[in-house]
Amino acid sequence: MSEPTATEALSNFIADRITDDRSQGKHGGRVVTRFPPEPNGYLHIGHAKSICLNFGLARDFGGRCNLRFDDTNPSTEDIEYVDAIQEDIRWLGFNWDELHFASDYFEQLYEWAQKLIRSGHAYVDESSAEEIAAYRGDFRTPGRPTPYRDRPAAESLALFEKMRAGEIDEGKAVLRAKIDTNHPNMNLRDPVIYRIKKAHHHRTGDKWCIYPMYDYAHPLSDAVEAITHSICTLEFEDHRPFYDWCINTVDTPAKPNQIEFARLNLNYTVMSKRKLLQLVNEKLVDGWHDPRMLTIRGLRRRGYTPASIRAFAHQIGVNRTNSWIDMGVLENAVREDLNASAPRAMAVLRPLKVTLTNLPEERACSLSNHPQKPELGHREVRLTRQIFIDREDFEEVPPKGFFRLVPGGWVRLRGAGFIKCDSVEKDASGNVTGVSCTWHAPIEGNEGPGGGKVKGTIHWVPGDSPAATVRLYDRLFSVEHPDGDDWKAHLNPNSREILVDARVEPSLAHAKSGDTFQFERTGYFCADSIDSTPGKPIWNRVVTLKDSWAKR
Ligand code: ATP
Ligand code: MG
Repeated sequence: MSEPTATEALSNFIADRITDDRSQGKHGGRVVTRFPPEPNGYLHIGHAKSICLNFGLARDFGGRCNLRFDDTNPSTEDIEYVDAIQEDIRWLGFNWDELHFASDYFEQLYEWAQKLIRSGHAYVDESSAEEIAAYRGDFRTPGRPTPYRDRPAAESLALFEKMRAGEIDEGKAVLRAKIDTNHPNMNLRDPVIYRIKKAHHHRTGDKWCIYPMYDYAHPLSDAVEAITHSICTLEFEDHRPFYDWCINTVDTPAKPNQIEFARLNLNYTVMSKRKLLQLVNEKLVDGWHDPRMLTIRGLRRRGYTPASIRAFAHQIGVNRTNSWIDMGVLENAVREDLNASAPRAMAVLRPLKVTLTNLPEERACSLSNHPQKPELGHREVRLTRQIFIDREDFEEVPPKGFFRLVPGGWVRLRGAGFIKCDSVEKDASGNVTGVSCTWHAPIEGNEGPGGGKVKGTIHWVPGDSPAATVRLYDRLFSVEHPDGDDWKAHLNPNSREILVDARVEPSLAHAKSGDTFQFERTGYFCADSIDSTPGKPIWNRVVTLKDSWAKR
């Protein structure tokens, strides 16, 4: 794995804990983490936080990080997700040391379950799900043993075998850990560790019809892989006693430790795979890779870079209290990254035709590709007799403080001299359809053609620039916390505006999918990787030049 840059090395309470563990020789000084996705959906920005943490800690401590698919629930999982998750992790810039599937451990997990039965630590319960829930009680009602709790181990063993052999129907029996039916921590009230599920599994096929529960499979899978620090989100804090119970009661050779951190919560979006799936299934977005989705695929297509996502994860840090991160923080991470790296170009989103009446002939103008990066060189843009500027840059009756093109006033054309508006053309309904201007060649210094200072600079494109499609993306939700039953009512109706007559510098026709530019004065734009055709990129707005939500 690559060495961390100084800005990427992690400093948080988990790194401190690992440092302590190592100074005490715990786990033999080793550091082994894992990222354990369930292959039931695409990865999102929340997963990116966990990925950066797990792979980052392994990198910083010279340890290892495994990718393990937690594929213990066959009904919701699919190989499509297994492939996509691997691609997304690689794209983020990380490489796992070992690739594993919890399903590879089904035999081992089964044997350990038999061991638990034999030692009196597990039993087959033939109560129905409703009965089990009733006997378990709740925070106010004490839990009680079901009639099956004290059956002999031999009977449970035989029944467990029959469960595996498919001789018992779904819902007719479960295997439960025997801990304490009235424990104050509900997770320890004899949790179910195996259930019957006659479902086809994407890897093990029809070999199994009993599947281990997550809370049982997870610690023991960690143990098989000799994970040292098993990092998960805070909701699992109450599950830690059962995690430890599994490790200690089975008495696995390796003794991993679970450590919890606060999950990422971002405003103006939803993050759970369940909700993202609903948006996809109900066609409220164009699939998992819709550029408005905060999936890794969506972000990638939108034009986010791996470095910007890693920088975001680094910036928000890792701690133990749940909090909300403002969407502006994520947007700013990509803005900063692209400001430093993206070449500049000119595009006119809403074109207004401008005729330069006195331009003697076409003129080649040299424009810098990046003001702070001379190594990115210059490009040539042709100033033609007819050009396009943005409609917003012209006002016939300018408000106070408007320093762009106005009748009778000079304005600077980016890299191409000055223009002064002489006349305005309108259609029958009075809409401005074009303006005619006098052009003046560039002048050294601050003075304009008329002697005074020219305050405004506007961008432009040649008149023969082809029409291009530009999609202006914005936040998917218009409220900070789209929750409750009607969360979908808060979708932002303006999250995508499609402009089909934008004009982009002709040289950009050769942009490749995924190429990103700063369209000067306009924003950062990325050539769409799915809908672009050769010679005709479609442009996705990654982010505006400035945070336009902060002041709303
Ligand atoms: P979701 O609730 O979105 O379905 P999940 O936790 O069920 O997510 P998993 O595939 O089980 O999804 O997650 C894999 C890993 O990613 C887990 O270790 C989990 O803790 C972590 N993870 C998931 N969501 C977040 C988040 N919002 N912030 C940080 N880590 C997360
Ligand atoms: Mg999960």
